[in-house]
Amino acid sequence: MAEARRGGCLCGRVRYESAGEPLFSLLCHCRDCQYQSGSAFIAAMRVPAVGFRITAGEPKLFVSRSDAGNEITRAFCPECGCPLFIRVSSRPDIVGLRVGSLDDPSEFRPEANIFVKSAQPWDYMNPDLPQHHTYPPGRAYTAEG
Ligand SMILES: [Zn+2]
Ligand SMILES: [Zn+2]
Repeated sequence: MAEARRGGCLCGRVRYESAGEPLFSLLCHCRDCQYQSGSAFIAAMRVPAVGFRITAGEPKLFVSRSDAGNEITRAFCPECGCPLFIRVSSRPDIVGLRVGSLDDPSEFRPEANIFVKSAQPWDYMNPDLPQHHTYPPGRAYTAEG
């Protein structure tokens, strides 16, 4: 297995590492992601939960419910507020990393735009990437990125 990727928050209090190949890399334009990013979308990398661990600090958790009824747990630094990752109740095997919290976000290779139905009119998307109205078809993901 390749060396674990590492990440953490803006102030450095919370740190994590993640081993294993990303399962899906996406740009989510849903309203929840707009709120949480303070911008038009969130860049998320879904990685195996088995390879994920917190190495320093304790993130604060905020739980909300998706349209599909799943519990979405958002983890962020209690000190600086930086979004770190999410967990979805329907997929305990997956952690969704917030790409901006990686030490090296440049390895991110987005595969698709999802929840384009909620995209902002001023949000420019790469025309080479697929755009999905909500969830990508054929993927067993039932919650936002
Ligand atoms: Zn912090
Ligand atoms: Zn979203």
